[in-house]
Amino acid sequence: MLMKNNLIKELQKQLSPENVLTEIEERYAYAKDASNSFEKPNLPDVVVFAQDISQIQSIVKIANKYSIPIICRGAGTNVVGACTCVHGGIILNFSKMNKILEINSENMTAKVQPGVVVGDLQKAVDSFGLFYPPDPSNLKVSTIGGSIAQNSGGAKSFKYGTTRDYVLELTVITANGEILKTGSNTIKNSTGYNLTSLFTGSEGTLGIVAEATLKLIPKPECQKVLMAYFDSIETAIKTVNSIIEQKIYPTTIDFMDKNAIQTVEKFYPANLLTDKECALIIEVDGFKNSIEYQKNIIVNILNSNNASEIQFSTNDEEYERIWAARHSSMGACAKLKPNVTTDDVIVPRENLAKLVKGIQDICKKYNLTTCLVGHVGDGSIHPQIPIDYNDKEEYKNYKLAKAEIYDLTASLGGILSGEHGIGVEKQPYIDKVINSTALNYMRQIKKIFDPNNILNPYKIF
Ligand SMILES: Cc1cc2nc3c(=O)[nH]c(=O)nc-3n(C[C@H](O)[C@H](O)[C@H](O)COP(=O)(O)OP(=O)(O)OC[C@H]3O[C@@H](n4cnc5c(N)ncnc54)[C@H](O)[C@@H]3O)c2cc1C
Repeated sequence: MLMKNNLIKELQKQLSPENVLTEIEERYAYAKDASNSFEKPNLPDVVVFAQDISQIQSIVKIANKYSIPIICRGAGTNVVGACTCVHGGIILNFSKMNKILEINSENMTAKVQPGVVVGDLQKAVDSFGLFYPPDPSNLKVSTIGGSIAQNSGGAKSFKYGTTRDYVLELTVITANGEILKTGSNTIKNSTGYNLTSLFTGSEGTLGIVAEATLKLIPKPECQKVLMAYFDSIETAIKTVNSIIEQKIYPTTIDFMDKNAIQTVEKFYPANLLTDKECALIIEVDGFKNSIEYQKNIIVNILNSNNASEIQFSTNDEEYERIWAARHSSMGACAKLKPNVTTDDVIVPRENLAKLVKGIQDICKKYNLTTCLVGHVGDGSIHPQIPIDYNDKEEYKNYKLAKAEIYDLTASLGGILSGEHGIGVEKQPYIDKVINSTALNYMRQIKKIFDPNNILNPYKIF
């Protein structure tokens, strides 16, 4: 107790008292993230707000002195328990480091603090005719720091890649409080090991991102979306491949199965066709006069693959309606049972139909409802499973189904996350897809960067 009091006093001295939260209600508010865990959350010992790099360094030095973990937190929207406090610790909140420091239209780069909200950056660069594509599907809240740490993807990764593809330079505070600079403000870099890439996706376990330089691209002039329905999952997936084979490169090829369509339509009516087996949501972008060209080719492919109905966005309202329907699936699923879990598995596209059918069969076997959505252009599927944690039998079945879904994914040459990360939720399963030698090297890398194990411990492996 005395030690904790001293820790808090030192933090208050460095950061000022209003940036140090110690009340139980305040700590409770930061105990959970968007993962829907069965486990009761552990409270952080204290929540702090950093306002600049030197304050991050001070926090790290204090954490080392008291051997207490630091768990960075952006908006807390990750769905894998990546910023929960397994054994207490200091939550380091970045909401007061949310400045866009520079937008350089000549270099097409933006320099930002970690607490910048992804959507705010998108809006800011839009006025320069530029575009920051990574969108973790909740860009109005999630932060650059969090999405770098999870290597977030989202619907547009099919054409534009994930967060990692846009991180040029990082300023990282190491576990002993040093300032480490990675990468360079250049489009290419073959100079030494790629530490930028190593920190991206490391879930706050190797270092603390204090600043980032991000790559921007020219903003596409126009974007349109169409939704096509199918009577069979195999045909829908075959259609995805046919589109790609025609060298058409949509921004997005997303998927909703029948349960997802029906559940969304039940709770957030959007004129979806509820008798179809599944739907593809396909977005194209580019110059205005290329949209019609792309659309016509895609519609031809859809027709020759027996799409049973095609809806095309002719205006912004239609565009929003289709995307709102796709993005409402988790909220709609949450209305079916007291809890809802979401997952993220990805396979080579050639095995996608087997993955989708396999997940449906596994959930059926364990008597679980599942709404399947996903970014199928990438080969990625998000099974959303409504569940009542108070129902012990259902929870047991859910755990069995989850393990089987991961086994199936591994057997199809896939991995456990294409964009959500591992956190604590998937940590017990990581050896299903990463070989023991690779895991050993990962553990050694962790030891080199964080010898005292104070940076977001007990996550990933
Ligand atoms: C409804 C819903 C839909 C989603 N859909 C998608 C999707 O389609 N694609 C996708 O990719 N993701 C998706 N996500 C996941 C989520 O949005 C991302 O993981 C998000 O980018 C995390 O950002 P955040 O600011 O909330 O980070 P947090 O959740 O606060 O933190 C995430 C991780 O980052 C670490 N961290 C935060 N800041 C720093 C820092 N400065 N330095 C080092 N580490 C740091 C934390 O310790 C933690 O490990 C979805 C989430 C929800 C709730």
